[in-house]
Amino acid sequence: STELPRTWPIAATDLSPRGMSDTEGLVLSIVVPVFNEEETIVLFLQAVDAQTNAIRSALGSGGQVEILFVDDGSRDRTVEIIEGLVAQRSDVGLICLSRNFGKDAALAAGLAHARGDAIIPMDVDLQDPPDIVPDMVTAWMRGAKVVNARRKRRGSDTWLKRWSATAFYGLYNRMADYPIQDNVGDFRLLDRSVVDVLNGMPERIRFMKGLFSWVGFTQATVEYDRPKRTAGTSKWVYWRLWNFALDGITGSTTMPLRIWTYVGLVVVFLAQLYAAIIIGRTLIFGVDAPGYASIMVVILVFGAFNMISVGLLGEYVGRIAVEVRQRPLYLVEHLTGRAAAGTDSGT
Ligand code: UDP
Ligand code: MG
Repeated sequence: STELPRTWPIAATDLSPRGMSDTEGLVLSIVVPVFNEEETIVLFLQAVDAQTNAIRSALGSGGQVEILFVDDGSRDRTVEIIEGLVAQRSDVGLICLSRNFGKDAALAAGLAHARGDAIIPMDVDLQDPPDIVPDMVTAWMRGAKVVNARRKRRGSDTWLKRWSATAFYGLYNRMADYPIQDNVGDFRLLDRSVVDVLNGMPERIRFMKGLFSWVGFTQATVEYDRPKRTAGTSKWVYWRLWNFALDGITGSTTMPLRIWTYVGLVVVFLAQLYAAIIIGRTLIFGVDAPGYASIMVVILVFGAFNMISVGLLGEYVGRIAVEVRQRPLYLVEHLTGRAAAGTDSGT
């Protein structure tokens, strides 16, 4: 289950390229969550505008790019600036959340409102460089449903952030059934069919990276160097990152709940061994401290049984957690031949 997505370019044989049957132009939506970003918005837009022609030619004739900002409860001039832009140009939109809900929630709002045939979530601070977007679009046009943008180095991050990220993703991938690809963030191109699936997921706690890997679909990867933040400061604090990590792990694993049965079984075995030694010693050498042998044996045995029963509860709670997420049992990417009969387009 540690299979990683294919890398771009994809073999053209098993895929149906985009844009062949569409007579109207394809639309790419760029979804940008923003939180107190008054300094970065205009710089971001300039950098995207510099790529618009390349993106449109990758999209084929009639291709369009739209930019959808999601204001995540900013308290500075962010909304004012974006509304000024919306008044000037028709390709910019704004979704205003009622308060700060966090980047994942802002992203979910953006995905729900974007109408593009492909959607790319991007950070506004240009750490997700717009100049690889044309390549991502090209990979999508060749048939990939998800195009991951993978950073080659994290040189621009602090060592603590790099270390904690490596530790977290290492731990996560050891526990989760669906591994997260190394060094891939939220910056990725998503086909409309994948976005529809994500929008339809009923779960409340949305660890987007986990969801992205859970949905599967034909994936491709484009690499880039992660630059430093253009302006402003990172809004993440370590307490938030810690909770983000907890959401990620509890959202996609049941292992920490269920491990206790096995720990308990090992402890029972060791406890029995030790109990036998204590009892044997008491029988042979007599009582040195009155009550020690009996109390020790009782503590060991009860401790082990407690662990086993916690693990047993974990088995049930873990299954409840999976049921509550209500994820679909499977997702179909496409149907071929007779399987496609009865549907209009086979998609
Ligand atoms: N962001 C957001 N809500 C938040 C925190 C951040 O919408 O509560 C946005 C932020 O404006 C930026 C993106 O998420 O567009 C990434 O944030 P940041 O650069 O601060 O994170 P980092 O790059 O340090 O992970
Ligand atoms: Mg950033």
